[in-house]
Amino acid sequence: MSYGNGLWHSFVLFCFDPSLRQRTTEITAINIITDTKLPISLVFSLIFIVGCASSNKVTRLTPADAIIKYKTSSAQPARYENLYPGKKDYPLTCQAPCYPPSPALACATPAESCRFVGRQLAIEPTTGFTLRWLGHASFYLQSADGSRLLLDPVSQQFDWPVDWAFTLAGGFFRPEPPWLSANELAEVDAVLYSHIHYDHFNKADIKKIGNQAQYFVPLGFAQHFANDGYDITEMAWFANTKLAELTLSFVPSHHFSSRVLVPYIYEDNDATLWGGWVIEQQGKRVFFAGDTGYSKHFKDIQQRYGDMDICLMPIASYYHKENSNWYRYVHTTPEDALVAAQELNCKVMIPWGYGNNSWQMGDHSSHSALLRLLKMHKTMQSQVPLYILNEGEAVRL
Ligand SMILES: [Zn+2]
Repeated sequence: MSYGNGLWHSFVLFCFDPSLRQRTTEITAINIITDTKLPISLVFSLIFIVGCASSNKVTRLTPADAIIKYKTSSAQPARYENLYPGKKDYPLTCQAPCYPPSPALACATPAESCRFVGRQLAIEPTTGFTLRWLGHASFYLQSADGSRLLLDPVSQQFDWPVDWAFTLAGGFFRPEPPWLSANELAEVDAVLYSHIHYDHFNKADIKKIGNQAQYFVPLGFAQHFANDGYDITEMAWFANTKLAELTLSFVPSHHFSSRVLVPYIYEDNDATLWGGWVIEQQGKRVFFAGDTGYSKHFKDIQQRYGDMDICLMPIASYYHKENSNWYRYVHTTPEDALVAAQELNCKVMIPWGYGNNSWQMGDHSSHSALLRLLKMHKTMQSQVPLYILNEGEAVRL
C-alpha cells in the first residue's frame, strides 16, 4: 500500500530496529540483471556465525537463475527496482459507470459494510488447498500434505509507531478481522510475507506466532525481526525452496517498499525487496500476487511456472484524487487484475484488498473495488472464474 505517498508522507516515524545479532547463511551464485555495480557482499557467499542462544537463523536464497535488480544509485544499502519500470500502457480501463449496484452484494449503506450474497461458483475440489480469507491481504492456507501457512498476517492495525501516530492525528483504522484461534496459531508451519509495508507486516503478529514457524521473506527483510530465535529465509525473485512437500517460490511484483521516514535524515525506500508467491504441491499451484501494479511480470511468472490453479489477486487501492497515476502504477485496478489472471491462466481468481476489514486507502468505499470487478468481469467477458469470499470464510479448492 502507499501510505508513504500522500497524506501521511510527512509523518516522522521512529521505528528503527535495534542492531541485530543474526546467523546468516547465503546460498548463492547470483545472476543479476542490472547495470549497477554489485556490492561485493552479494557476489560471494557469506557466513556469519555469532554465538547467541536466541540469535535468528537467516538464510539468503539467491541461486543462479534468480533475479535481483538494483536501481542505479549510490544509496546504501542498494535499492531494488521493478523488473519493468517506466510508463505503462494498460490493456483497458473501466469506463463510467464503474460502480453500479449489484444484487450480489447486500450492503448496510451503498457499497459500504457489505456481504457477498451472489451465486457462488460450484467447485469440485482438485488442488488439495483450503484457503481462508482473514481480511485485507491476509490468508490462511492448508495444503494436502498437512502444511499450514499464513500469508501476510496482520491481525490488528498498522504496526507501532504508525498506529500511535494515527491515534494522535487521525488516520487509517479498520474493524479488526476474524482471526485464527490460539490453537490454530500455534500450529502454523510457515509464514510468507510479500513486502514490508505496514498493512502486510506487523511485528506484533510475529511475536504472537512465535519462533516455531518458519518465515519466508523478500531480500533485506530479516533485519526487521526482533532477535528471538526466528528461522528466516530471505529470497530473491524466482528463488525456490521446499517446505515439507510444498515448493515455495518468491516471484516479482510491481510495487515498492518503504517503512521508515525521518525527513532529511533517514529513509529506507526500496531497501527491501517486494514480490508474490507461488505455492506448489504435486503440480497444483496457488499464486499470491502481493501488492502489485500491472506489468509484464505476470507473463514471466506464467512462463516460468505454468498455469495457476488458484490466483489470489489484489483489486483495491488504485484510486487517488491527485495521484491516480502513481496509485495504479503500484496497485492493480480490478480490470488490471482480470487481465493478469488471464495471462496467468488462473483456473479461479479470489480477489482481496477490499472489504469490511480493509484499510480504505485509495478506494471509494469498502466494496467499491468489488463492484468494479463484477462489472468489468462481465464487460470483458472474462473466462477466469471468480470465487468471492467474505472475510473469515474458507473454501476448499
Ligand atoms: Zn504495499
